[in-house]
Amino acid sequence: MVRRMSERFCYRCGISENEGGPLIDGLCQVCFRKENPVLLIEDEINTELCQNCGSYKVKGTWVDPKTYNLEELIFEVADNALIENLALNERVKSIKIAPREELEEIEELSIGTAHVSFQPLEWHVEYFPAIINYEVEIKARIHEMQKELHHEKKIVTVYVRQTVCPRCQKFLGGYFEAILQARAEDRVLTKEEKDEISKLVEEKVDEIMKRDRMGFIQDTVEKEEGLDFYMGSTAAARKLAQIIRDRYGGSISEAYQLIGQDRITSKEVYRTSVRIRIPKFRKGDIVCDKKGNVYRVEEVNGKGMLLKNLLTHESEHKDWKSAKRDEIDTIEHERLEAMTTSLTPREVQFMDMKSYETFELEKPRFEVKEGEIYKLIKVKGRYYIEEKK
Ligand SMILES: [Zn+2]
Ligand SMILES: [Zn+2]
Repeated sequence: MVRRMSERFCYRCGISENEGGPLIDGLCQVCFRKENPVLLIEDEINTELCQNCGSYKVKGTWVDPKTYNLEELIFEVADNALIENLALNERVKSIKIAPREELEEIEELSIGTAHVSFQPLEWHVEYFPAIINYEVEIKARIHEMQKELHHEKKIVTVYVRQTVCPRCQKFLGGYFEAILQARAEDRVLTKEEKDEISKLVEEKVDEIMKRDRMGFIQDTVEKEEGLDFYMGSTAAARKLAQIIRDRYGGSISEAYQLIGQDRITSKEVYRTSVRIRIPKFRKGDIVCDKKGNVYRVEEVNGKGMLLKNLLTHESEHKDWKSAKRDEIDTIEHERLEAMTTSLTPREVQFMDMKSYETFELEKPRFEVKEGEIYKLIKVKGRYYIEEKK
């Protein structure tokens, strides 16, 4: 009698190794896959999104959604929850999420690899909690002696509920951390400047909030002298102050106001005011420098000013540093209109259109025509030709 000493059998179903092998850890191929399932995800997953801003948690951190279409958003949140809760056999070291068609084609995988596909089977997303049933499908190899891949399917229900994220809790509770104050130096902001700055701030705050979720504007208060923006974050207030300075020039300063004590750490809590003061100069202003040159301001921006010298009618750009160095400042002046009544090689005679008095000016380097009316500026008793009327 021949005894086949080497013949082994699956300890679970009793099949011989010849038929159902090779055995892995004493199990036939089928029993090995049954005893070592790869897809360990729960049948039910609960997740939530912020009813105020649509954000949801990704790996524990609240993030803004990619879409604000409510139905798409619910699927975005549910997909994310599904992926985050994708529990797999510990022998799976690498996972790839693949479309179902791609998964169908897979016949071979390296050890420790899994490909997963999931797709919604049925759902209702018209009210909360939204419910989505997914079919999750996986192919994987976890052992070198495996002849066939693991191939498992499971129905998983994802519940999407509504909540209010911590940021929106603060926002809805009226919280703010800093005040951004937009002002002008030595004067009040004009209506146009207020409108422009409000628009600029609104445009930029969306960009800022992509990186700083607390960078919201809680409230905007219009004051006679300027604008106050109540901001959720000091960093965002600082960033906006810089954006305003880049546009208009000016200076930024900060002040701190003690508002109380932290109940837990008993540290003093301060509120920051970030103040941007845009320059007092505006287009059309008449200014002079320390040498007595008189200019008309043609343009004001973040870098400096474009000035037209009223004696030569040449324009020059002065950056803010040189403007300060040359002590550029506004100067008292009178405006008048006068007609050129005669020209000589050296002089121009003008007649004041109101008083009909005549006076002579040194003939300028730029062209002046007889019989035309000019806008003149009188500074410290001296006349300058601003432009032809
Ligand atoms: Zn078996
Ligand atoms: Zn929110």
